[in-house]
Amino acid sequence: MHFSLPLLACSALVQSPIPPPQVRPSAGGEQHQGPLVPDEPPALVVLVICDQLIPDQLDRLAPWLDGGLARFWNQGRSYRKANLSYSLTETGPGHASASTGCLPSRHGIVGNSFYDRNQGKAIYCMTDASVRALTSTGPAESGSGSSPHYITAHTLAETLLTADSASRVFSVSMKDRSAICMAGPAPAWAVWWDKTKGGFMSSTHYGGALPPFVLEWNTSWRERASDWEWTPSFKDDPTPLGTAVDDRPGESPYGAHGIRFPYRLPKLDPEVLAAADLEAAAAHLKSLASEVYGYPLGDQFTLQVAASALDALELGQDKHPDLLAVSLSSCDAIGHSFGPYSWEVTDSLLRTDDALGEFLDLLDERVGRGRWVGVLTADHGVLELPESLQARGVGAKRIDRVETGVYTGAITRALEAAHGVKFKLKFNGRGFSMDPLEVTASGLDAAMLRRTMADACLDAHWVAAAYTLEELMGEEEPSSESEVPWLELYRASSYTGRCLDVVLRPDPWVLMSSGRGTSHGSPYEYDRHIPLAFLGPAFPAGFSSAPADSKDILPTLLPLLGLAPLGPIDGRDLLAAPVLPVPLDR
Ligand SMILES: [Zn+2]
Repeated sequence: MHFSLPLLACSALVQSPIPPPQVRPSAGGEQHQGPLVPDEPPALVVLVICDQLIPDQLDRLAPWLDGGLARFWNQGRSYRKANLSYSLTETGPGHASASTGCLPSRHGIVGNSFYDRNQGKAIYCMTDASVRALTSTGPAESGSGSSPHYITAHTLAETLLTADSASRVFSVSMKDRSAICMAGPAPAWAVWWDKTKGGFMSSTHYGGALPPFVLEWNTSWRERASDWEWTPSFKDDPTPLGTAVDDRPGESPYGAHGIRFPYRLPKLDPEVLAAADLEAAAAHLKSLASEVYGYPLGDQFTLQVAASALDALELGQDKHPDLLAVSLSSCDAIGHSFGPYSWEVTDSLLRTDDALGEFLDLLDERVGRGRWVGVLTADHGVLELPESLQARGVGAKRIDRVETGVYTGAITRALEAAHGVKFKLKFNGRGFSMDPLEVTASGLDAAMLRRTMADACLDAHWVAAAYTLEELMGEEEPSSESEVPWLELYRASSYTGRCLDVVLRPDPWVLMSSGRGTSHGSPYEYDRHIPLAFLGPAFPAGFSSAPADSKDILPTLLPLLGLAPLGPIDGRDLLAAPVLPVPLDR
């Protein structure tokens, strides 16, 4: 049996309780905000995106947070009801929406990967065969690199650089899609972690050699990462703050370390690294480089490179406004394995809070309080571990590959029974695609086939709704009144030429997973509810319950910089009266 819940009713069910807003005085009554000079454009904009962060974490851990996260959330202008307004809540769309002011239906990054209807296959959102990887040793000799060429809207960075070519933009993350979506095209710079050789890398889209300060940073990370032991930084029991008990069913082991502290990064052996066997040396280095991403050290490294950029590029030092964009990815990797209420994520957030606090202090020192504007948000939330939800009586479930295999077989048979043709369907966890050549050869109407599939899709016990390409592209009206708000979210995640034939809306708390860890990517409140907070003289400190979204960041910041968007956008200026959205020209 399937059912459809109206959006609001469902949100209320899924939403975790948020404590009522209260203004907490900072330690010693100290005010971090600079003097109120709203008429002066900021010398530097700092965009901080935490990969996988739900606002509840900032509220429940508040007694232990006194660094950068706390400064944004409790001393800035913080929007307590911020929600993403599209269905496919993943890293690429989250970062692109925050930097372009647009929905995925306009900026084109509908998912970390998407189905390309022209090529008839899935494409990673940053793949670009016309560019090469760029590391400390220079451009790679072969292979494709990463670039923003699939982004079809203008980023904040692009807007800044178009208005003033003397502005500088630097973007850094452990993930290429995060760094690139925040930067947009060159002459901005984007760097990300090299999971093979370690250190930060880029692509030839951004230049022929890495910036000197990145090259220099890359020479020193190995010593700091090798044999690094991760033990909790907190001494007291975190469970009174809402952290779950440690070592829960459903946690995904970190290799040989299992699911219990301490975790330890591999120890580099200088002899193996220097040995004549180059392949063995490369594998040895990769064993460390590939794991850094899943440790809190990844975020510390990201902030170190951001701090190096601040000095090397003299950001915020002249009248040409600059942008420094930082995406903290480690929380996502740790959260996928252990869940948002784990000891591991708790510790990771406390460490991020400390490191971000030091970074904001550095901005005050180098740029000056009140001369920079900061934004904190997340690219998406996350589902609690299904096993923990089940223990609380919530009907969470994992749907594994065996089950989706059986499901794909059932849809294939339904098509054959109705139209007499056996199509080879592909299921990617979100929905189905048909082989375009097979459809053409069948001589059958593709829209009719999609309708048959969508109807058959509803027979699964974990599927709430299924939308055809025609419904997603706005060519067909939703099947029922209750589907209107849901379809609106799914249309916001649909882009012409990058859409499956049929897209599923699974029930709430359904995880497409093989049995361990957790994820995000759904249209439900636990994945769409995000923190959003601003720091700077133009932003009156305090909590706001006004509707807000990360797509509002660009239109809120541009007026402070005296700039207008380079094209149509979907967000609104949170400091101004609401405006009507610009219709999408499909
Ligand atoms: Zn993730």
